[in-house]
Amino acid sequence: MNKILHNLMEDVVIKQLDHILDSFHCCKCEQCRLDIASYALNRLPAKYVVTTQGELITRLDSLDLQFETNVITAITQGIILVGNNPRHEI
Ligand SMILES: [Zn+2]
Repeated sequence: MNKILHNLMEDVVIKQLDHILDSFHCCKCEQCRLDIASYALNRLPAKYVVTTQGELITRLDSLDLQFETNVITAITQGIILVGNNPRHEI
């Protein structure tokens, strides 16, 4: 089995992103969603784990309230920034 490095923060951000986007009236195309995700991920600490390729990791052990608040804040800032400056014609 191939072992790979995986950034758990990616999973958390992608999962929260769709949830938070629901409450915003902004563009939700793939380009904008990925721009928002990369904005948030660049501002959050990486959480690397060693995993087997294809293995699904569904939870973070260190998921506490402060951590979740940081994730939500970073995503919300990303939504506002990308929403105001989408990298495509509106
Ligand atoms: Zn868009």
